[in-house]
Amino acid sequence: MSQPNTAPNILFKIYQVLLNHFGSQNWWPGENEIEIMVGAILTQNTNWQNVEKGIKNLKEATNLDPIIINKLPLKKLAKIIKPTGFYNLKAKRLKEFIKFFLKEYQGKVETMEKEDEKILREKLLKVKGIGKETADSILLYALNKPVFVIDNYTKRIFTRHKLFFGKSYEEWQEYFIKNLPKDPKIYNEYHALLVKLAKTYCLKNPLCDYCPLKFLFQWQSK
Ligand code: SF4
Repeated sequence: MSQPNTAPNILFKIYQVLLNHFGSQNWWPGENEIEIMVGAILTQNTNWQNVEKGIKNLKEATNLDPIIINKLPLKKLAKIIKPTGFYNLKAKRLKEFIKFFLKEYQGKVETMEKEDEKILREKLLKVKGIGKETADSILLYALNKPVFVIDNYTKRIFTRHKLFFGKSYEEWQEYFIKNLPKDPKIYNEYHALLVKLAKTYCLKNPLCDYCPLKFLFQWQSK
């Protein structure tokens, strides 16, 4: 007899427990879609406080107007976003993205939103410097598309509990999408909660005794 698939139940249970414990995370911080997209690019390999400083500088210099950002010399842009670290590289990535945004969607979020999510994802992944996690963060958090974001925190938590061992990014993504209601609001909150969990309890040296997910050990030993 085949084993019942417990993944949908346990995935949703984890979500509820985390939401109950931490409350809503209100992600992604940002006043508008462009700010969220810029934040998704600048957050690579740095902490959020540094990203906020970089975005503040960029707002002051450009009001986050894609046309103005596009016209900025690369060196000047790098100087503006310096607090975010790897600023020369990030300035190039941001420029590439802004060029794409202007060329494909005339710098209009409404036009971008209308694009089919699969096509848009493929296009985003062709932009130099935009990887899967960044593309999916843009799709989910800026454009409200039902795309689950996978990161190392998620993998750490779920492999520690032997709940899933995906080989590829897509396998991980499918695991969540298949077993949760297809709702961007849930995907949004779930990912944010997993990040919170990884930063508070599921650290490199995990604090399992205090963690809201410690019930999983009992559940798994049944
Ligand atoms: S801290 Fe421990 S109980 Fe909590 S998610 Fe990590 S491995 Fe699980």
